[in-house]
Amino acid sequence: MTEGWREDRPFLGFVIGSDPADSFPPDPSVRARTLLLLLLSLLAPTVGALAQGDAISRLLRQGQGNPPTAKPAPPPVAKPATPPVVMSARIGEHDDRTRLVIELSDPVNLRAFSLANPNRIILDMPEVAWRMGAPPVPSGRGLIKAYRYGLFRAGNSRMVIDLNRPARLGETLAIPPAAGFGYRVVIDLFPTTAFESGAGWPADLKAREDDAERKAMAATVPAVAGRKVVVIDPGHGGIDSGTQGVNGLLEKDLVLAEGLRLAKELRARGFNVFMTRDKDNFVPLRDRVAFGRAHRADLFVSLHADSNPDASVSGLSIYTLNDGRSDREAAALAKRENQSDVIAGVDLSGGNSPVAPILIDLAQRDTINKSSRFAEIALAQLAGATDILARSPHRSASLAVLVAPDVPAVLIELGYLSNQADAAQMNTEAWRSRVAVAIAAAVSRHLAGDAPAAAAPGTRSRTP
Ligand code: ZN
Repeated sequence: MTEGWREDRPFLGFVIGSDPADSFPPDPSVRARTLLLLLLSLLAPTVGALAQGDAISRLLRQGQGNPPTAKPAPPPVAKPATPPVVMSARIGEHDDRTRLVIELSDPVNLRAFSLANPNRIILDMPEVAWRMGAPPVPSGRGLIKAYRYGLFRAGNSRMVIDLNRPARLGETLAIPPAAGFGYRVVIDLFPTTAFESGAGWPADLKAREDDAERKAMAATVPAVAGRKVVVIDPGHGGIDSGTQGVNGLLEKDLVLAEGLRLAKELRARGFNVFMTRDKDNFVPLRDRVAFGRAHRADLFVSLHADSNPDASVSGLSIYTLNDGRSDREAAALAKRENQSDVIAGVDLSGGNSPVAPILIDLAQRDTINKSSRFAEIALAQLAGATDILARSPHRSASLAVLVAPDVPAVLIELGYLSNQADAAQMNTEAWRSRVAVAIAAAVSRHLAGDAPAAAAPGTRSRTP
């Protein structure tokens, strides 16, 4: 669509091209008129701020004063207590740019920035409710390869856009409600030869993240004397859904439900249990590792579900850490699970790349031995509760979530969501309950064996 702005345009519903904001005026005079209309409606003093994404909230709030249009009202504006609603998104693919238009019920403070490695555009905003009926699908010919959206942290939502090739972020425009549309944010992406050198989190957002991370770590509950600590780590979450099952079951939902069940089983057995997440929010991989260490976990159990292009592959498997000398399948698994931060738009520029080579020192070998011991006990226990991967169910891979040098850790792939039978049974209460009980029993056996450890020779202090 290359038509210009038309104030008399009838309300056509939220489909690609129905909103004047989807297209841009083809000649300068129409473009000037559009800008003039826009600026008049937004009041003059903030014109200079137009180029800044973080000025959007101010612009939109001023736009709120506009007289109501005769067209049907947009979906009801959320009450103060409920988050703003993202009602629709549209993608306009043009020769010189790709335009993304997001429509909201309320003005929000939306920030756009780019991240490199891989090249992504991040739209950061306060927590919103996503109610896009039929999200647009990029054709693949424009700059947008794919995108996803969801909760990043409590109070903080985002959209992460993967790019087909390097792109430069143009000015971000805010348009107040008009012609039956709600608040719109217009983001233009222009093809460029090199990705922006300034890619990275804006300093204030980076500070906000560091702060949130510190708070999460500080929230350590004092250990109960004499009780072993188990940290349960449901994988993925929020904006990162993980694998999607053939039956529609999402990995992030499955592992959270199973994690909560397992926590209950373990608490009933007297363990002190902490969870890296107990709701549908995203947690960066390094935060999960730090959480396990901060809680001085005796055992860290990360829960996941796998997928395979071969739909016949099925069964549970357990992974422990190695330094990258994995077989091809294990390396592929590590690559998939280590992608979580990339998917959610975490800035990996600070040497926190989950795909960096994992170095294991001598002290860590002991931790890995403990992890392997638990993996073997758990596989024996789980054989009575579910199907086990036929070929070598205990594997090792360089998984970023297992790298704490002092916390024995395993990653359990509960089954294959790409397999009909696995996906079906993982969706049942009976299976979930059986598997949670089996894992809890294995934890009991493993940590009981560990308990009142006879001091190792050479560490006993000599009494004078
Ligand atoms: Zn996973």
